[in-house]
Amino acid sequence: MTPELKSLLKSAFALKCGRCGKGALFKSYLKFDTHCPVCDLNYDITDTADGPAFFVGFMAMVLFSPIFILISFFTPGKLALGIGYVVASLACLGFCLGLLPFFKAVLFNLQIHHQAGECDFDYVGTHGRAPKNWEKFLKQQADNQKK
Ligand SMILES: [Zn+2]
Repeated sequence: MTPELKSLLKSAFALKCGRCGKGALFKSYLKFDTHCPVCDLNYDITDTADGPAFFVGFMAMVLFSPIFILISFFTPGKLALGIGYVVASLACLGFCLGLLPFFKAVLFNLQIHHQAGECDFDYVGTHGRAPKNWEKFLKQQADNQKK
């Protein structure tokens, strides 16, 4: 891991801006501010979409599924089973809600670092020619423009 990436992740886990490492990312829970109050980076340049929710949800599934299965098999009585499910569900909910801001900050800072953006099919790469799998698409696009 490069020192630059390390500092980027460190600022993300502190919920700080990926460029300066000082300005706050969020103005409220999971809602990004419009710009960094320190370095004035516009936060509209990237969008994490549902990436953080996917990763956190997947982790919750992997970690909590065995717990729910163990509760189902080894809890005697319906009342204890119900209490077990409620407690495990609340723990799972707390796990997800607690991790979401950190994952959102990490993905956001990684997008800033890698200058990630939405897919742009007019962009053909930095080497001057389209990747192989794009040649068919670009040919179709050129044919459609001729029509
Ligand atoms: Zn900043």
